[in-house]
Amino acid sequence: MYRVIGGKVNADVSQLRGLRRFFCNVTAPEVSASNSYMHSNGNKVENQSANGIQQYDIAIVGGGMVGMALACSLASSALTKKLSVAIIDDNPALTSGGWISKEEPPDPRVSTITPASISFLKNIGAWKYVEKQRHAYFDKMQVWDYTGLGYTRYNARDANKEVLGCVVENKVLQRSLSLCIQEKDFQKTVLPSRLASMALQSSMSSTEMDSQLAKLELADGSNVVAKLVVGADGGRSRVRELAGFSSSGRKYPQNAIICTVEHSLPNYCAWQRFLPAGPIALLPVGENFSNIVWTMSPKETSECKAMSEDDFVKAVNHALDNGFGPHPQSNSSIDKIFSSFKSDSVSLNESFEVPPKAVKLASERMVFPLSLVHTDTYAKSRVVLIGDAAHTVHPLAGQGVNLGFGDASVLSKVISDGTAVGIDIGQLSLLRKYEAERKPANFMMATILDGVQKAYSFDLGPFNAVRAAAFHGAQYISPLKKNIILYASGEQRLPFFSWN
Ligand SMILES: Cc1cc2nc3c(=O)[nH]c(=O)nc-3n(C[C@H](O)[C@H](O)[C@H](O)COP(=O)(O)OP(=O)(O)OC[C@H]3O[C@@H](n4cnc5c(N)ncnc54)[C@H](O)[C@@H]3O)c2cc1C
Repeated sequence: MYRVIGGKVNADVSQLRGLRRFFCNVTAPEVSASNSYMHSNGNKVENQSANGIQQYDIAIVGGGMVGMALACSLASSALTKKLSVAIIDDNPALTSGGWISKEEPPDPRVSTITPASISFLKNIGAWKYVEKQRHAYFDKMQVWDYTGLGYTRYNARDANKEVLGCVVENKVLQRSLSLCIQEKDFQKTVLPSRLASMALQSSMSSTEMDSQLAKLELADGSNVVAKLVVGADGGRSRVRELAGFSSSGRKYPQNAIICTVEHSLPNYCAWQRFLPAGPIALLPVGENFSNIVWTMSPKETSECKAMSEDDFVKAVNHALDNGFGPHPQSNSSIDKIFSSFKSDSVSLNESFEVPPKAVKLASERMVFPLSLVHTDTYAKSRVVLIGDAAHTVHPLAGQGVNLGFGDASVLSKVISDGTAVGIDIGQLSLLRKYEAERKPANFMMATILDGVQKAYSFDLGPFNAVRAAAFHGAQYISPLKKNIILYASGEQRLPFFSWN
């Protein structure tokens, strides 16, 4: 039903054979196949070289959702499962194992997983674990704003799909990826420490660099060498900093407050309303629960966190109903203009609905600062960045981890292609193939999200009219609606619209 993320990286083996011939004089020293790995019983089997330094083909720094997805993906391919992989992270979630029981309190940190990411997680064998734990598919979405000038409803059937996405708690995703890795016959070692420093010997020429291994020093004093270091260590990436990747971006003047709320009835729709200070989203997380992601000024998030639970629930209901402005009206004059477009969208005749009321707070409230970061390059000799380490985006469309899964999918395929022809997997020319595939796609998404964020930084009549026109266009012009769904689903690489 779904297309695989990164399916565009073709196994152009003949091209890679050419590369191999070209680079045959700079292959890295062989890293002996490590027999050091975490057994499914949780015991670590040590393997150190004669000088006491642990050697791996790949050192993944950061075992968050993206780093773990890369490890799973590498373990899923016949060529890359033979590589020795270290996952460096002292997050206890990596080694805690087991399932999330229904009784465990909900994690207010959730991710909206796109159909393309679901397909990727199915292919690497992780989705079956998600499906046995808490998750909620949704097939409808409503987006509107506080001016009351317009709204858009999306239905998966507008794009001939069954679902628009699935909301999963981050701890469910993390645990599912851990369970998936445990079941694989794969040479992996979890090193429960943090990266402290890294030697890439930048004074060398790139050809000399290609013939060396990267050396990592961990916070527990141990050392690791690897042919390839993958920085999957999140928005404040130490790998990015130590390897000297330059980046651009800015801190948004906004924080997000997140939590889980309970309703009296089940919710199956994703709702998002743009308010003067930022969007509020109500995302179904299963049964009578929904997750709130509410963006506002840092001062307002502090006030929202400090208020009583009852007052906070009232504030949420106010923000999702007619607080800050009226409900959108159909049959306005602008509606009449747009409704002259012929449309076969299933959702065209769905009228505006008020989201279900929250009756109770069901988790703690957490606050996160928001920023936009994009590194100028993703690859250097022996080092590559994936996930938030390479790009951090505004959460308003729930795309962050999905972009990271796209990176993991493509990088794993590029490593597999390199392994197929026996070239050094830390070689810059190979890693650039990953960068060439992912950077334009991530940059495009980051730019669009930043544009939407900026469009809501103004409250002026002309801007309000333009935003209203955008809502109406998306509601009434079915090819536009279909393309928005496919792009947000990760199933269309670029938001260029075809009229069919
Ligand atoms: C409020 C909010 C809502 C969001 N909602 C969504 C959503 O609905 N959908 C979506 O797709 N995305 C969403 N995101 C974005 C998403 O959470 C991130 O894109 C995702 O967590 C990135 O995953 P990652 O594995 O790259 O990094 P992280 O999740 O940050 O993981 C990094 C890992 O690296 C480890 N680490 C850090 N430093 C070191 C070091 N020196 N040595 C070793 N290990 C280290 C950390 O312990 C951690 O385990 C949201 C973000 C926010 C803030």
